[in-house]
Amino acid sequence: MHELSLVTELVAECVQRAGGRQVTAVEVRCPVGVDADELTEAFAHLTEGGLLAGAVLEIETVPQVLTCECGFAGEVDPEQCAGHMVVCPACSRVHEAPDALELIAVRFPGEDRIVP
Ligand SMILES: [Zn+2]
Repeated sequence: MHELSLVTELVAECVQRAGGRQVTAVEVRCPVGVDADELTEAFAHLTEGGLLAGAVLEIETVPQVLTCECGFAGEVDPEQCAGHMVVCPACSRVHEAPDALELIAVRFPGEDRIVP
């Protein structure tokens, strides 16, 4: 499951940023095609009992962007994204989706958002 490996990396990064503090929320940006429900589920599972336990995963969905060998570069329709695969709208080549989750912010109790 692709989502699980993405979230594993995300959680590791958050733990590092938290530096021992409890985390209340994590904001990420992710391209369409990634299953937000699976992300949320994986996040809850991977953060159980740690510094991120109970933290809310806030997902902002953005268009999938693809650069292809055929010269196409730009946004791809959601219909052409499935999980971690993206189909080039110009030549139909199937690509591995570029790695997806971008950490925007980690928030702590009593603090405003921390922008990296
Ligand atoms: Zn192409």
